[in-house]
Amino acid sequence: MTSEDVHPDVVSTGTLPRRELVEQLMQEAYDRYAGVDDGEVADYIPVLAQADPELFGLSIVSVAGASHSVGDALHEFSIQSVSKAFVFALVCDALGPESVLDAVGVNNTGLPFNSVMALELNGGSPMNPLVNAGALTTTSLALGETADEKWAFVHAGLSAFAGHPLVLDDKVYASEAAHNRRNQAIARLLESYGRIVHDPLEVTDVYTRQCSLRVSAKDLAVMGATLADGGVNPITGERVVDPAVCRYVLAALATSGLYERSGEWLFSIGLPGKSGVSGGIVTVVPGKGSLATFSPRLDAAGNSVRGGLATRFLSGALGLNLFASRPEPRTDSR
Ligand code: GLU
Repeated sequence: MTSEDVHPDVVSTGTLPRRELVEQLMQEAYDRYAGVDDGEVADYIPVLAQADPELFGLSIVSVAGASHSVGDALHEFSIQSVSKAFVFALVCDALGPESVLDAVGVNNTGLPFNSVMALELNGGSPMNPLVNAGALTTTSLALGETADEKWAFVHAGLSAFAGHPLVLDDKVYASEAAHNRRNQAIARLLESYGRIVHDPLEVTDVYTRQCSLRVSAKDLAVMGATLADGGVNPITGERVVDPAVCRYVLAALATSGLYERSGEWLFSIGLPGKSGVSGGIVTVVPGKGSLATFSPRLDAAGNSVRGGLATRFLSGALGLNLFASRPEPRTDSR
């Protein structure tokens, strides 16, 4: 390719529809799905089982910094696996995406997020940053010699994505730290394969802390909008990561962001996203903004049921699907 072939001013995105339409359709999404009670609240981390299953919030933040929220969008919950996307971005930014690609990978495992077998089947490769093995490897690569320095890097970076200092939920941290033997085992196995060079128990502890940070759906939408905005937080104006990093992270989310349902998610919604077991989902619309949802009842793979339904509805109604080349008629199917 010659330099004449590169058109840096041309990107294949547009803008979100006008504000009134966004607000109207978000309210419609809320009203449609607020009564859905399919799914179960996660309970393998004991404190998560205490979540109110009826909570339901939606938030959209545009790359211009406009925000719209419905329902329990300001209710705080632990970020859990959604953190994996953003720590991956921070580490790619610090070390260069290529070296992180070598260390972590970007292919789907087809197995549950906390699978030990996936590691064994793949010669110790974590495969992608969005399963626990890949997230532990990613967190081990956070800048800093000591666990405290790595935590400071992760905490400062996630806070910059959100636009304010994120607070650790002590209760979630204590509950998860008392029940994370499986993650410790995965970290130890990664060490045996030479994938983690830092102390595996310390890495697991930093990872557990990162999962215990409190966020709201609105925070997740700001974080997602930062990825949609080429790495600049649209509320604070701070550059958090390089534009190229966002592109790589969104590609990784498209392959593996929704656990073993990532293919179905991309098929029906057509956008990169990341979910977590506390019920949050962040969905990124490159160049336009981000939609985040929160509702604690999960499907069998670990994705919020109401969140998935609302995101699917809004992707279609707001014309967000990256694979759609022309407006499609609205369907009223659930
Ligand atoms: N902290 C949780 C774990 O490691 C995160 C799981 C998730 O949200 O997928 O098990």
